[in-house]
Amino acid sequence: MKQKNLLYAGKAKSVYRTDVDGKLIVEFRDDITAFDGGKKDVLRNKGSYNAEVSAFLFDYLGKNGVKTHFVSMIDPRHMIVRELDMIPLEVIVRNIAAGSIVRNYPFKERTKLDPPIIVIDYKDDARHDPMLNDDLIIALKLATPAELKKIKKIALDVNRLLFDLLAAQGITLVDFKIEFGRQGKTICLGDEISMDSMRLWDSKSGESLDKDVYRLNKGDVMATYNRVAQRITKSTQKR
Ligand code: 5GP
Repeated sequence: MKQKNLLYAGKAKSVYRTDVDGKLIVEFRDDITAFDGGKKDVLRNKGSYNAEVSAFLFDYLGKNGVKTHFVSMIDPRHMIVRELDMIPLEVIVRNIAAGSIVRNYPFKERTKLDPPIIVIDYKDDARHDPMLNDDLIIALKLATPAELKKIKKIALDVNRLLFDLLAAQGITLVDFKIEFGRQGKTICLGDEISMDSMRLWDSKSGESLDKDVYRLNKGDVMATYNRVAQRITKSTQKR
């Protein structure tokens, strides 16, 4: 497969067309940003750690009945994916109160959220990703009511599957963000699932194992990404 023109460059990934119809190449770059791009760095190997974890988790979810865009890896930072018509929603599932939900609402940090809470933001940097509700999503024609129902069901399925897989490695899945797209009429999981898009705590020590280490200057970001990538990809549980 040959890489062709750049289709889209985000804050940490670039997407390229290929010579194969319906297949794209996603490049996981070493750029890391936080606070709406207000904090920016380039951290060596960050792209490959995130790509490795994303590939592993997409493969695991695929084997457990979740449709994803993942096809295969070309090398440690280039992933072949199926082209999706992306839906501009950031679907966030929260198992424990942390991050913006604690800043914006009267939740005490570390409160267990049972059942998990789904929050959906509008993926729009210029508007700072405002939170949506079902009526807004439908009025803005971002998804149909049936698609929204499906998206929420898949998000909860992904949460259960990831929560159990990570728990077996001594990692608590606090929350995560996923994105969806359409392949024909089918809703598929797209984008990435990585240390940039999940909030992970060591189940014993409570130590952060994700981008919060970067956001909050908690220590050596790449040493953490390296360790957590190894812990996650060593999981053998394929249920
Ligand atoms: P929070 O709303 O607390 O900042 O984020 C909740 C969860 O969603 C965290 O795991 C965070 O990493 C993820 N998340 C929220 N917004 C974004 C985003 O724009 N990009 C990425 N990669 N992850 C996000």
